[in-house]
Amino acid sequence: MTTSRFEEGALIGVLTTQPLDRVLDYRAPRGGCAPGDHVEVPFGPRKVNGVVWGPGAGDYDPAKVKSAIRVLDLPPMRAVMREFLGRVADYTLTPMPAMLRLATRAPGLTDPPGMRKIYRRGHGQPERMTPARARVLDLLEEHDGLAFLLGELAELTGVGSSVIKGLLTSGAVIEEEAPRDVAYPTLDPHMPGKPLTGDQAAAAEALRAGIAGGRYGTTLLKGVTGSGKTEVYLEAVAACLARGRQALVLLPEIALTAEFLTRVEARFGAKPAEWHSGVTTTERRRCWKMVAENGAQLVVGARSALFLPFHDLGLIVVDEEHDTSYKQEDGVLYNARDMAVLRASLERAQVVLASATPSLESWVNVQQGKYARLDLESRFGPAVMPEMRAIDMRTEEVPSGSWISPALKGAVMQRLERGEQSLLFLNRRGYAPLTLCRACGHQIGCKHCDARMVEHRFLKRLMCHQCGETAPMPETCPNCEVAGKLAAVGPGVERITEEAQALFPDARVTVLSSDLFGSARALKARILEIAEGAADIVVGTQLVAKGHNFPKLTLVGVIDSDLGLQGSDLRAAERTFQLMRQVAGRAGRAEARGTALLQSFQPEHPVIRAILSGDEEGFWAAEAAARRAAGVPPYGRMAGIVISSPDMQQAFDLGNRLARLDAPLRRIGAQLFGPAPAPIARVRGRHRVRLLVKAEKTAPLQAALAQWAAQVKVPANARLAIDIDPQSF
Ligand code: ADP
Ligand code: ZN
Repeated sequence: MTTSRFEEGALIGVLTTQPLDRVLDYRAPRGGCAPGDHVEVPFGPRKVNGVVWGPGAGDYDPAKVKSAIRVLDLPPMRAVMREFLGRVADYTLTPMPAMLRLATRAPGLTDPPGMRKIYRRGHGQPERMTPARARVLDLLEEHDGLAFLLGELAELTGVGSSVIKGLLTSGAVIEEEAPRDVAYPTLDPHMPGKPLTGDQAAAAEALRAGIAGGRYGTTLLKGVTGSGKTEVYLEAVAACLARGRQALVLLPEIALTAEFLTRVEARFGAKPAEWHSGVTTTERRRCWKMVAENGAQLVVGARSALFLPFHDLGLIVVDEEHDTSYKQEDGVLYNARDMAVLRASLERAQVVLASATPSLESWVNVQQGKYARLDLESRFGPAVMPEMRAIDMRTEEVPSGSWISPALKGAVMQRLERGEQSLLFLNRRGYAPLTLCRACGHQIGCKHCDARMVEHRFLKRLMCHQCGETAPMPETCPNCEVAGKLAAVGPGVERITEEAQALFPDARVTVLSSDLFGSARALKARILEIAEGAADIVVGTQLVAKGHNFPKLTLVGVIDSDLGLQGSDLRAAERTFQLMRQVAGRAGRAEARGTALLQSFQPEHPVIRAILSGDEEGFWAAEAAARRAAGVPPYGRMAGIVISSPDMQQAFDLGNRLARLDAPLRRIGAQLFGPAPAPIARVRGRHRVRLLVKAEKTAPLQAALAQWAAQVKVPANARLAIDIDPQSF
């Protein structure tokens, strides 16, 4: 490949992270530079970093174009990476500077080794908050991930250095030495894996053949939890590493990484590089650099690892590909699963999408021949999918204020007698979803959001699940001030835990809910204890549905199978189907066949019936037909524009104005719905209004949206965000 160099003084275009949506003209620095080089450039009175994007556009007075200061000592950004960032920007309608921020989000990249800098770390609060301390913390928060020299930070915030030293003592900020960047220990792809069963071996062979082809391809690897998907895709990783190319494994949740690291170590003799928000700043910097310099063969990470500067990426695995957390809902709104496919196609890499319950999108892509599909038919070893039955709650005698039916109680008793574990599943955190005054009927809501306050009895507080606002549980009704009349209505996991403790006084009952653990590490530790038998009954939210191993668990009781079927979201059926099958898959991993019991008031509902019968292909086909008829994804395209403002009227006015200016949408035959309150209508005191656009699959939606949105000027306190492929519609 020929890379054209720019001689010193030549006109170059530099992309910076400054919020200007264009590449800026500079002159090449002394010694010249090449496309992809990281450079330091003057920007107003400051110096900022950027990447040489190509030749300059020449739209400034040539006499005024400034010279870039120097080429930074960082591995240049490869052409495919630059193209990838551009394509994601075009698809998601994100300004390029924001894309560059995503791709260079590692702290202190250009610091010399040994330099000590101040970082903000998530935890640790000063005992006393003073305005000066708050200024320092705010600045660090605002520049998430950046590190500052102590003196530099003091100067920027106008505080004395003693203020920062105080924060260091309290642990609210930390000082770390910029690390020497060392390569990760070598993984040995030639170590033997486990002997594979027939269909595992066939699947592994097919993936290896894809890797050997050296071209792009996407494969859906489908198999129930425990069928050996991880075992199989580790074979693909081995084949990729053996060819000297790098591999990336994306996991939907940090809590899953520890177990995965251990498995990689057992398989390849060393741990891979890690990339997610729980990794220290120094490690993240090391990871970024080593990925670029080919000093990291395998990365396991969260969705943002997709934007790491791989030297030669040969394989991306997206585990639990159906998981909704792959969609980033803040800042750059991208879906990591879809962008993984895009990146792989540019890198000539293979993608493996692994799931027990694939997304409808992936299922349709297989049907249309865009993706290959490999099935792992049975569980590894003697275990099989659990027996699934409904408990018809209309005929069960459940006392009021209780949610565990006699039938479910009997099944749990049996497990207790046999020394096996049971899981009671309810996808609702807290004690009760609603606190109601029995005197006046008032429901306690959040001050800032359009949501109810949820009682968390273990934490002795009310909490808003949308904005995190908490308040002490009041003694009297905030409306009528009558005392002693506030009542908890409906169940959350904490309340089910209480009920289980009362029903089974001799059993060890434990609750697994994300809000009850201070850190991912603490949660992980507890999960391991439970897997080893530290509890008889586990009460859990959807946290437990995500791929954890509980070998002694033989019964899953779903407290409310109808929960996800309410509401008007078109994806409700798909979500419920996936979640119920995932949860049921927790039962009976080892020798004993498990049972899943679904409490339901509508056991004849088609989704509940499909879950029970296990007729997945039938379910997907019916669901796909319904989506096709409605013209919605994956058969049509959708996008949302969300306008938020502290003032509801302003948000609606802006929405209505946009709705009237819909000519660009009409030109592509798109339909417009709204403005209407967004699915989450009020967050942190901001009102959110959404306009939904639906278009034919082939319509040039992005261009029309960009034109459309550009017609209104957004006032300073309002915000407008475009969301391509929204999660709910
Ligand atoms: P999945 O990713 O589909 O949930 P895993 O790959 O985690 O399945 O496999 C489930 C369990 O079975 C793991 O403990 C794994 O090590 C074990 N296992 C799977 N296949 C084999 C095999 N061929 N030989 C030995 N153990 C296996
Ligand atoms: Zn709130």
